[in-house]
Amino acid sequence: MVNGSMAIQGDRVQGAVVGNIVWKNESIVIQKRHFTLCDIRWQLAAESLDKCFLLRYIDMVAKVGNDSNLYDGSKQSMEAHAMITKNSIQPDGSMRVISLQSGSNGNCIYVESGGTRLLFDAGISGNQAKERLAKHDIDIHTVDALLISHDHFDHAGNMGVYHRKFHLPVWVTEPTYNAVIRKKLLGRFEKLNHFTSGETFRIRNLTIETIRTPHDAADGVVFIVDDGRVRFGVMTDLGHIFHELGESVKSLDAVLLESNYDPEELKHCDYSDELKARIKGKSGHISNLEAARLIDSARQHRLQWACLGHISQESNHPDLVRETHDRVLGDSFPIHIASRYEVSEAFVI
Ligand SMILES: [Zn+2]
Ligand SMILES: [Zn+2]
Repeated sequence: MVNGSMAIQGDRVQGAVVGNIVWKNESIVIQKRHFTLCDIRWQLAAESLDKCFLLRYIDMVAKVGNDSNLYDGSKQSMEAHAMITKNSIQPDGSMRVISLQSGSNGNCIYVESGGTRLLFDAGISGNQAKERLAKHDIDIHTVDALLISHDHFDHAGNMGVYHRKFHLPVWVTEPTYNAVIRKKLLGRFEKLNHFTSGETFRIRNLTIETIRTPHDAADGVVFIVDDGRVRFGVMTDLGHIFHELGESVKSLDAVLLESNYDPEELKHCDYSDELKARIKGKSGHISNLEAARLIDSARQHRLQWACLGHISQESNHPDLVRETHDRVLGDSFPIHIASRYEVSEAFVI
């Protein structure tokens, strides 16, 4: 049993935990998780302290060294001086966004705020998601929830894998889940958290708003994550720009927005006429120009930056995306481009 308190000073943590500490498979497991924070400058939500912070605390300790003697259960207090990498925790309470991949070949977006960690969509393999998060020093097992936007495989295809392999609780609407399992074996789920499209719900300290989209899916939604300080939108596979979308973008501090195709490129690419019609139709995707105009309508409000995603391989190019957005927005508005193949840097709001 170890007793004590924990203090945070700058980028160092010093303190002790209350609980039984044991070693298991070369990692520390704290069986009874309680501890006291002396300094709550990080404003982590009380309910998330127990799990999230401690898990990250363990990460930090693990980085210092795997010396089991240091954490001997017989000691009455534990002192750990662990360097916290800038990536491991945002001490100023900001929201952090990472695109693990964005495009018709697979989507997965990471959002973290106030100690709560979320993944949006499971369109890349479990290993890819795990490895790309690890590049940012994030252990995928510490993610609190996986939220699924719609039933297309580039968003929902691996939700069963993430759930079983990493024990992630899954949030999905019932029609979306049913549409996926009609087409693909997803495997067993211990429990599913169903929300209704258009519903607002909470995951720990975060409010999640959902807006139903006119995309050609069973029950597609976009998400807004609100931590009480800033609002971030995960908005791809939109169909077209509908009224509620236009209004909600004006309420955001940052957005990951689809900028799917360039009309000229689409006209001349190898897609069938049917697919071309689907993409530019009312329930397909939005173009570079439509995305740029949407951002333009919101930037005099709160919008700090936009990350453009779901960029088509065949009917678009990152250079064309930037060119179109710069033309509409000027080159002073911060634009990021989410890759179809690589993890992004961490964007902060
Ligand atoms: Zn998609
Ligand atoms: Zn889709």
